Amino acid sequence: MENKDDIRLLNSEKLEEFFINKNQKKYRVNQVLDWVWNKSISSFSQMSNISDDLKNILDKEFVLNKPIEIKSYKSSDGTIKYSIQLYDKNLIEAVLIPSKKRITACISSQVGCSLDCKFCATSRLYRKRNLFCYEIFDQLFFLNEQSKFYFKRKISNLVFMGMGEPLLNYKNVVKAINKIKSKSGLNFSAKKITISTSGIPKIIKHIAHEDLKCNLAVSLHSAIQKTREIIMPFSRKFPIEDLIDSLKYWNRVTKKKILYEYIIFDGINDNVEHIKALVKICKTIPCKVNFIEYNPTGDLRFRRCKVEKLELYQKYLTNEGIVNTYRVSRGRDINAACGQLINLNKVGY
Ligand code: SF4
Repeated sequence: MENKDDIRLLNSEKLEEFFINKNQKKYRVNQVLDWVWNKSISSFSQMSNISDDLKNILDKEFVLNKPIEIKSYKSSDGTIKYSIQLYDKNLIEAVLIPSKKRITACISSQVGCSLDCKFCATSRLYRKRNLFCYEIFDQLFFLNEQSKFYFKRKISNLVFMGMGEPLLNYKNVVKAINKIKSKSGLNFSAKKITISTSGIPKIIKHIAHEDLKCNLAVSLHSAIQKTREIIMPFSRKFPIEDLIDSLKYWNRVTKKKILYEYIIFDGINDNVEHIKALVKICKTIPCKVNFIEYNPTGDLRFRRCKVEKLELYQKYLTNEGIVNTYRVSRGRDINAACGQLINLNKVGY
């Protein structure tokens, strides 16, 4: 592994400074940035309009840490999961989910995860490190190429629902989103980007001021603190009142609705008390609830709820005028569904 930084860690001002110090023309900066981001080259030698002298300088000082596809898994429902190796041999996973109307990319923000959501296999990997902004960008670039190849369409939607808690890799996630949205990046619509968080109040308030204009989804799973702590033990540090307070704040600043993600577990949060608590919370902030099918990941205390319980939840919410949908998991047969990303080929679960 080379002891040099990826050139993409430098913004245009820093790169300009570097070029001046090396007696290079300033206008070359935009050309180089175009090659390393827009064209996503893997070697400086590919820059056909750049002098050999400058290519050699860049080669001496920087690297391009491009990820490598290790393996792909194709589901019977069209979903494709990719195992991706980073420059330091760490593995992450990213998923391409096609449907009639859209192609969704689900990407990772960390190698593993430091949180402990009981329904999620990624939590068993623990957090190895945060991804750099360019590693987040590269996943989308790569998936977009795959999407054009397999589905003849570009990616339409992006969700941060892969490995990791995006708000715990705040700076890199914000930088990556800004690059993904920019004309010099992927020119991706902010409205089609969703950051999915397990709910960290302080950081939700912070990100409200980034002017990202993207959507926020919150893994809620229970509006009752004690139950939420069973499902997501880390949430004991974040009382539900604080979470709701931060979501109100986010809504006030961004004027955007919240999307609550909600898994109903058999015998854990499937009764009327939980439904009423959810309704109460939903009435405090403009929102939508997305019920997600549970995909068992090994902890036997957690089981998928009976269909009648889901119907009961949906009936209650609809009667109260709360928009709700039910999402059937995609890619379950290749362990690509919600909560199933665990680098299976490496850890051998
Ligand atoms: S659901 Fe997200 S935040 Fe929770 S453990 Fe899994 S990857 Fe981490």
